Amino acid sequence: MTKKRSLLERLDQDNAVICAEGFLFEMERRGYLAAGEFVPEVALENPQALKNLHIDFQHAGSDIVEAFTYNGHREKMRVIGKEELLEPLNRAALKIAREVADAAEGEPNLMAGNISNSNIWNPDDPESQKQVRAMFEEMCQWAVEEGADMLVGETFYYAEEAYCALEVMKEHNVPAVVTIAPMGENIMRDGPTPVETCQQLEKLGADVVGMNCFRGPETMMPYLKEIRLAVDCHVGALPLPYRTTKEHPTFFNLPDEHGCTCPAPHGRTFPTALDPMYMNRYEIRKFADEALELGIKYLGVCCGASPMLIREVAMAAGKTPKAARFAENMSNHFMYGSNDRLPEHIKSYGEKA
Ligand SMILES: [Zn+2]
Repeated sequence: MTKKRSLLERLDQDNAVICAEGFLFEMERRGYLAAGEFVPEVALENPQALKNLHIDFQHAGSDIVEAFTYNGHREKMRVIGKEELLEPLNRAALKIAREVADAAEGEPNLMAGNISNSNIWNPDDPESQKQVRAMFEEMCQWAVEEGADMLVGETFYYAEEAYCALEVMKEHNVPAVVTIAPMGENIMRDGPTPVETCQQLEKLGADVVGMNCFRGPETMMPYLKEIRLAVDCHVGALPLPYRTTKEHPTFFNLPDEHGCTCPAPHGRTFPTALDPMYMNRYEIRKFADEALELGIKYLGVCCGASPMLIREVAMAAGKTPKAARFAENMSNHFMYGSNDRLPEHIKSYGEKA
């Protein structure tokens, strides 16, 4: 087996390290979990489907197999009345991620344990904070027991919750990535700006700080630029592939202004009717190019990501994942190609097609 370098070695030596995430949306599209509820029960109910998901993102160029435990925390399991499945679910997801990471061709992938926004953190209620810390502690413990090479804390919209997550992550001797997700007011819900939060996370010992989810490149990039200048550690950027705007910086309140004839019954495009605002691969490629230009090296795409978009990011960083074999090739298209064999009368019909 090729030697497995650590996250920090890769960040120092390679153009970029790619981390696929946003598995809730992709598993929902594939028919293995419910939109809205968003619980990653797939690790127990359809382990093969989860394994396939990881393999597809690995094939597309992800260097990290992030265990699918997003929302797989005690509070969410209580919401759906299945708290007894908490530990089995976490361990199953971690084992699947470990197995796929180790099976990578050449250098094994890194396997990441994952904790995230608890949605019960309350700045005015120390009891809620104690509960959140306990949730982070048990999940990080299971992650390292199952062989995690690193820990990812993500999608935090309370700064203090992100700090709490990092404190718990730092109790384990593995690299810690923390990415935040400020909502539409463009500050953390407890006040600090995204930049201040990332600076504090660096001070508290995070190896990578940055942003993930909630925002597309358009409304994440301005903050990424500031963050890159304000910290010395590595920076992570994992936006959504949706066209968020200054008026609507996150996908939660993104309107469909594309002539929708049948709006979602629940009254908003999030999370089930965002399709018309989806970015094409060239827009994601442009985002990756810009991020790399800034010196941002921990890259991925969050909710809405498909393997095709991860391939774009990986190839922007000069990587040749296995899926690069099937990167677009228009030259052999029957009507828009350049191949000598294509008949002229078909090619000339292209603009009327
Ligand atoms: Zn996301």
